[in-house]
Amino acid sequence: MATVYFDEATRRFSKDDAPAVDGITLDIADGEFLVLVGPSGCGKSTTLRMLAGLEPIDGGRILVDGHDQKGVRPRDRDIAMVFQSYALYPNMSAAQNMAFALDNAKVSKAETKQRVAEAAKILELEQLLDRKPGQMSGGQRQRVAMGRAIVRNPKVFCMDEPLSNLDAKLRVSTRSQIAGLQRRLGITTVYVTHDQVEAMTMGHRVAVLRDGKLQQVDTPERLYDHPVNTFVAAFIGSPAITLVESDVREGVAHVHGLTVPLDRAVAGRAKEKVVVGLRPESWHVVDTPAHDGRKDGDGTSLALNVELVESLGSESFVYGRPVGAEEGADRVTVRLDKRTHLRVGDVVHVEPNHGEVHLFDAASGERIE
Ligand code: ATP
Repeated sequence: MATVYFDEATRRFSKDDAPAVDGITLDIADGEFLVLVGPSGCGKSTTLRMLAGLEPIDGGRILVDGHDQKGVRPRDRDIAMVFQSYALYPNMSAAQNMAFALDNAKVSKAETKQRVAEAAKILELEQLLDRKPGQMSGGQRQRVAMGRAIVRNPKVFCMDEPLSNLDAKLRVSTRSQIAGLQRRLGITTVYVTHDQVEAMTMGHRVAVLRDGKLQQVDTPERLYDHPVNTFVAAFIGSPAITLVESDVREGVAHVHGLTVPLDRAVAGRAKEKVVVGLRPESWHVVDTPAHDGRKDGDGTSLALNVELVESLGSESFVYGRPVGAEEGADRVTVRLDKRTHLRVGDVVHVEPNHGEVHLFDAASGERIE
């Protein structure tokens, strides 16, 4: 097992472009499951490949257990990589695929056999050891790829989108299998995904990347409850948080006729323009259209023209634009606990829950607290 430390690690593919990985500093604890997440092209895979030694470092350092990995060849790093494509040898059986790295490392035949048998047991692959990749399902191949990493008993697992070739249902079940396996084995794991749900459900901590720069590293709960900027706020959470630019006057934010009172300390730090963030569950309905006793823009509630209703059975999401808002105004997303009778074209009045408003500086996007 091992600690991993990225110290201003940088990768620049060309002199003219911005670095793909831009001075990342990240301290990963022994046995931790750290997820790197962010949109396509943000530098996740490059970061992981630098750790595995598959990509050179143009600046900074990467330490494993305190040792600088500069000049250490990938095969000498004691890091096992699991790829999205699984990268299995098609002409070898599952057992041979798993044993391959051990054969190369001159591990004895008897020990190799034992380690493969152990991994096969953990991954429930015992019945499939003689099958070639072409004779297995995607999920089974994925488990063989995991097995190949496990048998090496490495210091660190590096996983690059290992679930993206699985269908949605299998992805969910495999997600918890991998997380459970990592807990049992206790091997430090760096896991790359662009799927924020995967990140939030699997990681002890989640590192959010944007344009090669680290935005925030935190527990899933902290990321959700205290996003450091509008990018993280919008990236984490599904459906996404509603972010609306608004004016601050006399300690109150004005959002399409809705007034949001701000905590005094926060109001003191806010400039004239802020971005108010409200998650779908941070609203409640105050009036149904059928019993509409309120006037629009009375200050405490927001009137929404319902544009879309998604009923998922146990909960519903209502998407609407503020009544009277200009064309192109932000859509507000409201979660309702139960099934809703609201329909497209209805008007619904919603109020933010007290204390659940996120506030960001409009110019920098940074959180104000
Ligand atoms: P995805 O989720 O789409 O796989 P990612 O976050 O893993 O994306 P990277 O693959 O790390 O992103 O790529 C980061 C940036 O570096 C991108 O802009 C990409 O185009 C660029 N890049 C990656 N590999 C190379 C390469 N070999 N040569 C030049 N540019 C590259």
